[in-house]
Amino acid sequence: MICKICGIDGNFVWDQQHNENTGKWRLYDLSMERPHECSHEKTEESSLETTMQTPRVKCPKCDPLKDSAWIEREKLQEHIKTAHFGFW
Ligand SMILES: [Zn+2]
Ligand SMILES: [Zn+2]
Repeated sequence: MICKICGIDGNFVWDQQHNENTGKWRLYDLSMERPHECSHEKTEESSLETTMQTPRVKCPKCDPLKDSAWIEREKLQEHIKTAHFGFW
């Protein structure tokens, strides 16, 4: 039968002994020979944020208060050429 809580189809029977003891119903997993525990597989594994830390330099021409003033080192030359062309 299928556990209606977790949706797993297993070799389950209602645990009558447990019901007599506690008044509650639970499923007993015959193949595992232990009470069925609902699996919580939906725990989302936090995706590893692979943020490559590229070395950044501050553009001397940009507003120093803005985050955009921080440019990747390799892109600084190009940035100055494109963004600040004519300021030299
Ligand atoms: Zn279950
Ligand atoms: Zn700049």
